[in-house]
Amino acid sequence: MDSYRIPKGDDKRKAMAIQVGVDGFGLLESGHAAGAPIWLREIPAVVTPRTVWLKQYHRTITHGGREVVWREEKDLPPSRDRICSPYDTDARYATKRGSGWEGYKVHLTESCGDVSTTGAPHLVTNVTTTDATVTDVEMLERIHNDLDRRSLLPAEHLVDAGYTSAGLLIDSRRDFSITLLGPLRAGNSRQVQAGGGFERAAFTIDWDNQRVTCPQGVTSTIWSSCSERGRESIVVRFLVTACQACPARPQCTRSTRNGRQLMLRPRDIHEAVEQARAEQTTDEWKQRYATRAGVEGTIHQSVAVTGVRRCRYTGLPKTRLAHVFAATALNLIRLDAWWTGTPLDRPRVSHLARLDFGLAA
Ligand code: SF4
Repeated sequence: MDSYRIPKGDDKRKAMAIQVGVDGFGLLESGHAAGAPIWLREIPAVVTPRTVWLKQYHRTITHGGREVVWREEKDLPPSRDRICSPYDTDARYATKRGSGWEGYKVHLTESCGDVSTTGAPHLVTNVTTTDATVTDVEMLERIHNDLDRRSLLPAEHLVDAGYTSAGLLIDSRRDFSITLLGPLRAGNSRQVQAGGGFERAAFTIDWDNQRVTCPQGVTSTIWSSCSERGRESIVVRFLVTACQACPARPQCTRSTRNGRQLMLRPRDIHEAVEQARAEQTTDEWKQRYATRAGVEGTIHQSVAVTGVRRCRYTGLPKTRLAHVFAATALNLIRLDAWWTGTPLDRPRVSHLARLDFGLAA
């Protein structure tokens, strides 16, 4: 079924969706009826629609009979738990920078050392495939474990902003002796978004005495450990009377009933983040980080040469294997070019440079 065959207009579409739901429930009931063979309810052609129907429809028994309701977006389970294709129950729907796709996500890692020093071409060292909804930051530890298992851990790992977080900076160093080099995103507090507001960096933290001093010179009165979304944190509060009388309050807090509150990560994480944020503004850091751009060429090569953007198989295991084959192919192409002295990239000549001005003159 595709959108060309769906009636125009929201009401007609909704009515059709409900009719499909009613028909589907009727079919499933037949499959689960007392006289139906037991094996029927166990085959994928019945199990998959049953799962999809449970997630897409809500059925209630009313006085007038059964009522089938098509769930609204807010009532649907998260994309991670939703089957998006009857042909591939492992595939998931995700969006990134406004583009949506159904399927999987592949994470490629490649060596990027100075070729003249290492004496080897840049090769893909790890391939990890997940369904499309798994975030990059969730995958970094697994990528490091995979590299560790094959003794391919780098001393420095260049990653994009999707793979960085305060905790991962610390964990990578502690667990794998890796320096994680990637831009840490600026905080998203109201004060940061407003610009000119008193964000966390504007406060002076005295870790030894568990006190924080605000830009107006007022010292916090409460410092206590807590858990914020499962993460170890510290909550710091300022006296409400001090904040109510403060001339700079609009830059600091919107609360009129309470004083300013700050959430801090533990000292080692906080200091690692501060240091990383300071370093990433330097030219030296930017120069080191520029090497990461090379992996964009690898991604392009994997798309253009091996067609990795289109799944040839269904199911995560086969898709994962296909991605490993694609990476192996890239490595063979690179090794062949290295051994035969063939340049991998064709020198690009712009359309303008190709014009024969001699003829035009
Ligand atoms: S509002 Fe409170 S915490 Fe903020 S600057 Fe003023 S006194 Fe300091």
